Amino acid sequence: MIDFHCHLDLYPDPRAVLAESVHRRCFVLAVTTTPLAWEGTTRMVGDAPRVRVAAGLHPEVVATRYREVDRLCALVRETRYVGEIGLDGSPRFSATLPIQREALRRVLAACVEAGGRVLTLHSRGAASALLDEISVFPQAGLPVLHWFSGTQRELTRAVELGCWFSVGPAMLRTRSGTQLAAAMPRDRVLTETDGPFARRGSEALVPWDVLEAEEVLANLWSCSIGESQSRLRDNLRRLAYEDPGLT
Ligand code: MN
Repeated sequence: MIDFHCHLDLYPDPRAVLAESVHRRCFVLAVTTTPLAWEGTTRMVGDAPRVRVAAGLHPEVVATRYREVDRLCALVRETRYVGEIGLDGSPRFSATLPIQREALRRVLAACVEAGGRVLTLHSRGAASALLDEISVFPQAGLPVLHWFSGTQRELTRAVELGCWFSVGPAMLRTRSGTQLAAAMPRDRVLTETDGPFARRGSEALVPWDVLEAEEVLANLWSCSIGESQSRLRDNLRRLAYEDPGLT
């Protein structure tokens, strides 16, 4: 199982979620919302097998934490995975889009300088604006659009730009999310939960809840769950071929 976008440090009991993920042999990309959180999460994860920590600065907090962009740019040199970064154009955050864009450009430039990174990117309400930035920084690495919610036309553009996608149970419970997932190239899809933010009813999603996404993908791909799982595993191996301890 693969949870390519999980806020491990934000669960009430992160160590319990980590231990259970390791026990179930899940791959987990623990994304962080601030550079400081990267340090704490990296210490907590230690050398847990198949768990990686991404250094990020969430677009929702960039405006109040702009000073931390420097710190993230420095961290980019040390990490293989960068995120959660991106742009948020939803009504609550659209006023800060100019500063979000400035921060994102600095981080992407740092990724270019570091020789490219695997990026997990937020694009709510700002898909076109985010794709504009990706197109300006093609050497920043491999962009993985998390919980993509743009239009079919924006999806086509993302595919042309070489983007990958991570899709989760919450996204796949909506009709528009399922239609987007159906149109994604099957060799560029990974699963995620976005837990604990994403929920099922009152329960925060946990990494092994990606099973629900594997089931929906099997349906969309007209194959068995076993086949969807093996395709997803192949995708992860191709994406992270330079990270052999991963799968
Ligand atoms: Mn997230």
